[in-house]
Amino acid sequence: MTGRDPQTARGAADERVLGRVRIQTEPLPQPAAPAPARNGGVPQIAREVVFDIRDMAVYYGDNQALGWTAFKIYRHLVTAVIGPSGCGKSTFIRSLNRMNDAIRGFRLEGQVLYRGHDVYGAEVNRVEVRRRIGMVFQKPNPFPKSIYDNVAWAPRNLGMREDLDMRVERALTQAALWDEVKDRLTDSALSLSGGQQQRLCIARAIAVEPDVLLLDEPASALDPVATASIEDLMHTLKNRFTIVIVTHNMQQAARVADQVAFFTLEPGADRVGTLVEYADTQTIFRNPTDTRTRDYVTGRFG
Ligand code: ADP
Repeated sequence: MTGRDPQTARGAADERVLGRVRIQTEPLPQPAAPAPARNGGVPQIAREVVFDIRDMAVYYGDNQALGWTAFKIYRHLVTAVIGPSGCGKSTFIRSLNRMNDAIRGFRLEGQVLYRGHDVYGAEVNRVEVRRRIGMVFQKPNPFPKSIYDNVAWAPRNLGMREDLDMRVERALTQAALWDEVKDRLTDSALSLSGGQQQRLCIARAIAVEPDVLLLDEPASALDPVATASIEDLMHTLKNRFTIVIVTHNMQQAARVADQVAFFTLEPGADRVGTLVEYADTQTIFRNPTDTRTRDYVTGRFG
């Protein structure tokens, strides 16, 4: 803790160091300085733990993709996962809602606790996991159906047919798309622009009222204007959902995230993804603890 800016130092936060990984195990007190404007400040509500990732490691067959990983993700915050290509960002986020299950050879050690329940527990209903923990992917992937039917698809499948029109309108409104599509709901979703398609995918994910939204590089296939609208959307969506976003774009992480987890690839033959540091966004970008984080956020590698 020595040498830190007192405004971003962690005060009484319980910090422990395991190996070369520095983990903030409890939320920090708010820094005295205001959060950057586009962050909109951190919500003044009690921070509930949504995910408690405990001693997690991930393998594909004989290859270990992610080394020991443990940290907590908090409600109504945007948590960004950053790091160089191949460090396991996607593997990590897909492990939070069992999206990796279909991959042959996938194996997870440790625990992913979602609100105290083991996501990989024997009794767990995977459909319910995916309903509560929705996901949006890098490339917009609307179904070749109408705009309305894209949003109505999951609610219909899950038997949430009551007030379907209202549900569709609400999801499209929350995804900041309603005004652009309300007069063309029967048009094909494929007629929308890339940015609109991605917001439609967000509407599709939130139509079943999830608790968490996992966004895996949601803007990397979009132009700067569409990217800005997705980033703006995150600032409003976090009031309703807990958001975890993978991004290779550090400026984006700095703009949208409250908390940041930085992963890297350790040099050597194994090339295992490693969690280096997890902290609030200001600390990661202005005053990181680990030199590997500093080198990455200042562009020295990656
Ligand atoms: P990132 O998102 O940081 O680029 P990934 O999670 O995609 O990293 O990949 C981490 C490691 O896991 C890489 O070595 C990659 O080759 C491996 N990997 C990812 N997906 C699979 C898969 N479906 N099967 C086998 N190995 C995979």
